Amino acid sequence: MWEENVRKVEPYVPGEQPKVNNLIKLNTNENPYPPAPKVKERLLTLNYEDFRKYPDPTCDKLNAAVAKAYGLKKEKVFSGVGSDDVLATAFLTFFNSKKPILFPDITYSFYDVWANVYRIPYKEIPLNEDFTITVEDYLQENGGVVIANPNAPTGEALPLSSIERIIKENKESVVIVDEAYVDFGAESAVSLIDKYENLLVVQTFSKSRSMAGLRIGLAFGCEKIIKYLNDVKYSINSYTMNMPSLELGCLAVEDEAYFKETVSKVVTTREWTKKELKKLGFSFADSKTNFIFAKHKSVNGKFIFDELRKKNILVRRFDKERIKDYLRISIGTDEEMKCVVDALKNILGE
Ligand SMILES: *Cc1c(COP(=O)(O)O)cnc(C)c1O
Repeated sequence: MWEENVRKVEPYVPGEQPKVNNLIKLNTNENPYPPAPKVKERLLTLNYEDFRKYPDPTCDKLNAAVAKAYGLKKEKVFSGVGSDDVLATAFLTFFNSKKPILFPDITYSFYDVWANVYRIPYKEIPLNEDFTITVEDYLQENGGVVIANPNAPTGEALPLSSIERIIKENKESVVIVDEAYVDFGAESAVSLIDKYENLLVVQTFSKSRSMAGLRIGLAFGCEKIIKYLNDVKYSINSYTMNMPSLELGCLAVEDEAYFKETVSKVVTTREWTKKELKKLGFSFADSKTNFIFAKHKSVNGKFIFDELRKKNILVRRFDKERIKDYLRISIGTDEEMKCVVDALKNILGE
């Protein structure tokens, strides 16, 4: 009988983190390069005795370091345990209307999970045939909007002018822009937070800053919207971020040169991989992220996925009707991508 009152949900399924060695792991969009060198230096000087104490609930040092790097006041920055935590808290805080929130049918597959767990009504808006977004679709009545820009898993980016239109024409609701991949080539909406109170921009250290294991996510917005987010955070768990993440995150965000260098390496490898995949008969959107979402002209996605796996190459495939023939291939090192291309040549008999 007790089960009648359980909050039943269908959970998000994260990409596999297999324990086998010698695997080329291109399934969760991790960065192939290590974090900034100073992160290591600082790690070695962390005092384990300090683990006795609670970490700083305000995340002040990290927020200040981020604010400095982005040229903002620290009151406009929020930190959480990866952007998944930031987004989940933001859904709970800002999506509290009887009207449905809007997001694309093909996007980050956590959005409908959060909407379901929090009982937020939602409406999925089909992407166009070519996976582009029509801005007008997001101007209908809603209780909030969430857009990943660039979108995942398609890799398509909207220009900032389109994002701005969605924010500007939705003054009655909060627009969340999830910029997990923005550093790999799209325009950030952080520049708009002083212009629009209803905007929350979410970013992460997991991809462009090579820190997925430390779980650091960020939100940017006007002071008022960040205050609302903090009020909900402090109503659930005040000590979200652990001490090593708070300390090491500062060093990751301070090293601008290393960040630019690694992002640019990933982008160069991505462009090389695009050319090779095209030659092999794959088609894909012009990805502005650290992955390519590709479909072969004749061979089905499940077959290629399984054959790659046999060759110890792990990519991501979603069992969803519209995209079942697509593979989402994260960008690894040059060597790893050469292996992938060779494996695909072999599988496709080219
Ligand atoms: C990876 C990803 C996230 C979550 O990243 P965290 O590791 O939780 O910071 C959020 N949104 C999108 C679109 C992502 O791809």
